[in-house]
Amino acid sequence: MLTGSENRPIVVAGPCSAESRSQLKEVVDLLATNPRVSAIRVGVWKPRTRPGGFEGLGTPALSWMQELQTKYRKPLGCEVAKPNQVELCLQHGINLLWIGARTVANPFMVDELCAALRGTGASVLVKNPVCPDVRLWIGAFERLQQVGIEDVAAVHRGFAMYRNEGYRNAPLWEVALELRRELPQVPILCDPSHMGGRRELVSPLATTAMQLDYDGLMVEVHPHPDEALTDAEQQITPTELEELLNRLYTRHSSPSELQQQRIEALRSGIDMVDGELLRVLERRMILSRQIGRVKHEADMSVYQGERWNALMEDRLRQAQELGLDTDFVKEIMDKIHAESVRVQL
Ligand code: PEP
Ligand code: MN
Repeated sequence: MLTGSENRPIVVAGPCSAESRSQLKEVVDLLATNPRVSAIRVGVWKPRTRPGGFEGLGTPALSWMQELQTKYRKPLGCEVAKPNQVELCLQHGINLLWIGARTVANPFMVDELCAALRGTGASVLVKNPVCPDVRLWIGAFERLQQVGIEDVAAVHRGFAMYRNEGYRNAPLWEVALELRRELPQVPILCDPSHMGGRRELVSPLATTAMQLDYDGLMVEVHPHPDEALTDAEQQITPTELEELLNRLYTRHSSPSELQQQRIEALRSGIDMVDGELLRVLERRMILSRQIGRVKHEADMSVYQGERWNALMEDRLRQAQELGLDTDFVKEIMDKIHAESVRVQL
């Protein structure tokens, strides 16, 4: 249902946790009849950062999920963190599973889950690891491939950072884009609920994900979000989900001919400017090489700290005058300096 199908967007929606039979039935009744919802997510075992909170209902919830899945012929899935959870899910006909952010960060646990998944044909979503290490994320896909799990997708839910800039988990979109470059065949969904941590951030984050051409969304939906036992602040109602999907996916219809022409024209402009940038960099490195020779003749060290500090100060001032982001310019100047030192050596 993930890799094999052309059906886009993939929308996985459902409550953070199954809390009771009636809560689950109420939300699934609404979501399963929504043709835009491809699958329903349900938390059965809840990983809690600190002990003492609601830790999920376990096996009874799986039986309710199985009933509802049969009734609506729509896949229901849940998070698995231990091999016996994989087995319990499969025994209950739950074949859509996801590996949570805390688990993906631990290759020992991913290995154990993969051993339980071998040859089962389950569909597996892989959340990004809690830390922004794209190799751990890629590693989980490689391990799944080794045990013959082909139907996979990535879920970008953001990263736990010391400073999250208002998000529950910092998006760091560039990490997800790197995953997509490395594994272009793997569909990628955005989980704006765990990324934002607040209801009002779900829609703007989902919009950004669409602009970045994600294949779909995983969204937490609860019939009465304020009463939710877990993640109450970030869950939205089934009606709010419907509104969000209407807004997102009607807006992203195909561009008109005129818009297509404008895009082509702007792309030619970008290609030209990129060519100029590369020629400028070539000239920059020729100058670096020449100064390197003179420094060598004069017995001077390649690295001249004072000059570098003064240069950076001047470039950042210029950047500011041009309205460029100074962090961005600093990063580029640091890279240019490192390359300049390398060619001088
Ligand atoms: C969840 O999806 O309910 C969950 C716990 O997510 P994560 O692993 O992204 O924290
Ligand atoms: Mn949650």
